[in-house]
Amino acid sequence: MKLFNTLTRRKEEFVPLEEGKVRMYVCGPTVYNLIHIGNARPMIVFDTVRRYMEYKGYEVNYVSNFTDVDDKIIKKAIEEGVGAEEVSNRYIEECRKDMAGMNVKPATTHPQATQEIEGMIEMIQTLIDKGYAYAVADGTVYFRVKKFKEYGKLSHKNLDDLQSGFRALKVSGEDQKEDPLDFVLWKPKKEGEPSWPSPWCDGRPGWHIECSVMSKKYLGEEIDIHAGGEDLVFPHHENEIAQSECCNGKIFAKYWMHNAFLNIDNRKMSKSLGNFFTVREISEQYDLQVLRFFMLNAHYRSPLNFSAELMESSKNALERIVEAAARLKDRKEAAKAEKLTEAEKALLTEAGGYVVKFEEAMDDDFNTADALAAVFELVKFANTNVTEESSGEFAAGLFDLLVKLCDVLGLIVEKKEEILDKDIEDLISERQAARKAKNFARADEIRDELLAKGIELKDTREGVKWKRV
Ligand code: AMP
Ligand code: ZN
Repeated sequence: MKLFNTLTRRKEEFVPLEEGKVRMYVCGPTVYNLIHIGNARPMIVFDTVRRYMEYKGYEVNYVSNFTDVDDKIIKKAIEEGVGAEEVSNRYIEECRKDMAGMNVKPATTHPQATQEIEGMIEMIQTLIDKGYAYAVADGTVYFRVKKFKEYGKLSHKNLDDLQSGFRALKVSGEDQKEDPLDFVLWKPKKEGEPSWPSPWCDGRPGWHIECSVMSKKYLGEEIDIHAGGEDLVFPHHENEIAQSECCNGKIFAKYWMHNAFLNIDNRKMSKSLGNFFTVREISEQYDLQVLRFFMLNAHYRSPLNFSAELMESSKNALERIVEAAARLKDRKEAAKAEKLTEAEKALLTEAGGYVVKFEEAMDDDFNTADALAAVFELVKFANTNVTEESSGEFAAGLFDLLVKLCDVLGLIVEKKEEILDKDIEDLISERQAARKAKNFARADEIRDELLAKGIELKDTREGVKWKRV
């Protein structure tokens, strides 16, 4: 399996740090609004990477954070006259719903920045002790960029060029910095903002430190893959590398993967430009499986332009797969003969060729567009070769192949079975018991499992309420 590593700018063979295991961290959204479909691109792309790794037999520890302390969240909270926590919790819940709709698996852990402040203070202190960071008079702590000789290795930027660019940009209010390149690790609180005590001042962490800390806590000092959208390469990921490698004295991540932008009229879709569609808006018009298909029909490193025409053609294409699956299912149930004939055996072997094609495409830096092409070849093959005379075993064999490949891409081609009320109640009881036992991971898992089945839970004073969404 080869993947493109931003660090070396080459496709490299994937060799895990520990045999059979993958440790992967994906930078998650800042939760101050409903996510837009640009934010959905890394979610879908890296969920597919994870699914393919699992298909290949790896055990994947997948961590993705929610940034729940940030200027934009605070601004929104002030506008609404509520606490920052209320805003972030609301949008975390909404984000989980969107993820479930797009069939993005919940991460092994979804840490939240505000729950990890202690670890951040610890890492900042280590950086100060090692001479990589310093506190100034007002309690702000900065990272001493020039002390890390490898700074710029991910974004392939040279310190001198950065230096001259920054000199021109030097802004007032930051004159306490030793060097314009230095970035913030901890900043003093402002009136009305959430803050935490620290050895330097009451305040809050800078953005970059949270990922270094959460990655270390949940995955260890060295990880296999760190990923996110390409706008994160500089400065976010560059700064994460500086913090983690100076603190731990180890290479932070072996492979760095970045998805290209989702554009609209060839400009990046973003909140600040106002040219976005939320996932929720799209879900009113389309099944979110169509959005997933649309994303996967392009290579993740190619810019992708959003358009109504492409969504329509994605919808039609996906329908072709769903119809083929439904027909195979009917055939396997209505078949006159059970057992495979010799000719069918040979045909099934031939169909295995599409699986090989699919895997070759995915092994080549997750070329999901080519992988989908292999799925369509299988669809065509099934449509041509399965007739009323076919055996049940033959139809079932092709059905299983099709479902297996679509599942790797996270595409649901079979209608979901309705979950019964009793099963919901049982899971809710199990979740309550897990919470009592302080097994919050299991409790969250159950909530996500139910959400994936379209059941939303609400904790109220009278107990847990649920509804189908
Ligand atoms: P943010 O909430 O802005 O920090 O973004 C969360 C994730 O979405 C990051 O990995 C971003 O790189 C990614 N992202 C934001 N906008 C886009 C876009 N238009 N296309 C692709 N990825 C994006
Ligand atoms: Zn990050």
